[in-house]
Amino acid sequence: MIGAGSAGCVVANRLSESPGRRVTLLDDGPELAPGQVPTGISGPNFFEAMAEPGRLHDDLIARRNPATEPSLYQRGRGVGGSSAVNAMVALQGDPAIYRGWGWHDADDAFARVLLETSLAAPDEVGGVSRALLDADERARPVPLTRRNGARVTSAEAYLWPVLDRANLTVRPRARVASILVDGTVAVGVRLADGTIEPADRVVVCAGAIHSPALLLRSGITIAGIGEGLQDHPAAVFTLQLNSGVDQDQRGLAISALLETQVHGDFGADTIQLLAMDSVGTGPDTAGLGAVMIALMTPTSRAGTVTIDSSGHPVIDFCLLHDERDVQALAAGVEQALEVLSRPPFAQIVDAIYIDAEGTMATSLNDPQALASWLRSASGDYVHASSTCAMGTVVDDQFAVEGYRNLFVCDASVFPTIPDVNTHLPTTMLAERFALGR
Ligand SMILES: Cc1cc2nc3c(=O)[nH]c(=O)nc-3n(C[C@H](O)[C@H](O)[C@H](O)COP(=O)(O)OP(=O)(O)OC[C@H]3O[C@@H](n4cnc5c(N)ncnc54)[C@H](O)[C@@H]3O)c2cc1C
Repeated sequence: MIGAGSAGCVVANRLSESPGRRVTLLDDGPELAPGQVPTGISGPNFFEAMAEPGRLHDDLIARRNPATEPSLYQRGRGVGGSSAVNAMVALQGDPAIYRGWGWHDADDAFARVLLETSLAAPDEVGGVSRALLDADERARPVPLTRRNGARVTSAEAYLWPVLDRANLTVRPRARVASILVDGTVAVGVRLADGTIEPADRVVVCAGAIHSPALLLRSGITIAGIGEGLQDHPAAVFTLQLNSGVDQDQRGLAISALLETQVHGDFGADTIQLLAMDSVGTGPDTAGLGAVMIALMTPTSRAGTVTIDSSGHPVIDFCLLHDERDVQALAAGVEQALEVLSRPPFAQIVDAIYIDAEGTMATSLNDPQALASWLRSASGDYVHASSTCAMGTVVDDQFAVEGYRNLFVCDASVFPTIPDVNTHLPTTMLAERFALGR
């Protein structure tokens, strides 16, 4: 198995339930062992988790849209994968979406999920989240993958309880260079140090960026690999907070959000407003908060993951490629501005900025200005998805079309991006993979 992230931890646990099966789980990055979790990972601020050494793939550069310069795309690295650095938001999504894909066992798969969740304690809810909860009755505290105030990673939930299984080996710092294929049959992997690991079956769980890159690097070039890349397009308002927010008690980075529907010529879409009580780790982020506005049901599917001549992923999201997505996100931004004008925000916010240069949100005063800002300044929500889509690259048993003993199971397999943050849906997807195997 390749990749010990949200999906890989689940699959390793479930496959090794059968004592006759020997499972080896390889990951490029560092170990995450019981009793040795870095404080940044267990703590309340996911920016601190991302700052832990070796926990991000720091060489992934992505273009969000034609108007912006490519920049780092965050992906978790090491045992736990992105579950060890994410913002811990745990949402299931609209069951109708899974049923629409023919996943009638999604409820069963969710019922098997071992991740624990809890809401923030009252004294952990920061000023921006509190303002959102007070400003709008649709806002709600969000379930987080935490227990007793500490993050629960997929490694803790799925690997740690079974580390004593004689048939399970977890190998951190083992980067897979390519999958070995004999004709159309997967027979093992080659590590970056040249070691060859033979296998009867290869399950690729390297995530929506690295899985397609790995397949392409291995000479597997069936149609659709790396195509249809999606993320949730998002715009951010940075809030200059006043003394109404206690800076010594910032609380959790994320603890509340608001989901709303927008309607128009573009159709009907779901928007998420995410309150952010932290925007980073540096001293320059003190006194700042944010509200992120994300389009959770994008139409655009023009994004791609390809590889360069050295086999490294080349990521082009083409966010907002479809004009309907620009209009839907603009409608969400208008709702956000209205919510931000209400007293709970007015009491704690001195200024609302739309960029790092300090341009004020009041500059978005007409539809053209708003659309143009979105086209040039919107970004992703770190929810890459659908680059080895089921029905195109893999069949409904997660097997790569046309190949034997080769499977993909991670966020790349979603037929289209789920309408919520992707960690819990990816965990469910991996439980589906294991059902009946
Ligand atoms: C900063 C951040 C914040 C997020 N916040 C949230 C949130 O709050 N809620 C939510 O639901 N979702 C969130 N997400 C998204 C969510 O965490 C991911 O969608 C999910 O974890 C993806 O799971 P995965 O198994 O597909 O990939 P990952 O969990 O990323 O795992 C892939 C693993 O494969 C390994 N790998 C890659 N290539 C190789 C190779 N060649 N050899 C060996 N190993 C390899 C990687 O090191 C990694 O450990 C966030 C993501 C990030 C990065």
